[in-house]
Amino acid sequence: MHSDGAPPLLTPVTSTQGTAIHLAGARSPHSPGATTLCHEMAAGPASAQHFHRLGCFRCAQEAVALGVLSVHDLHNATVNLPRFLAAHRPAV
Ligand SMILES: [Zn+2]
Repeated sequence: MHSDGAPPLLTPVTSTQGTAIHLAGARSPHSPGATTLCHEMAAGPASAQHFHRLGCFRCAQEAVALGVLSVHDLHNATVNLPRFLAAHRPAV
């Protein structure tokens, strides 16, 4: 729920399934039952560095669709999402 229309604040998170790094609401990664943008269960905070290597393409796409162009981890490292998508775009 965004009263001012601003894009949501997102942060990299691990999920309970697999090793990929996903994105979830920055307020929720610690709350039980929090879900990632691709609807997996968030397990805990992850670093931007890990997102660069193991980031979930679907989460990045969802984030950009929501108007989020960059995300920050707990150490204030940044992921530029359009750049991530361009670098990881799967061959079709
Ligand atoms: Zn994901």
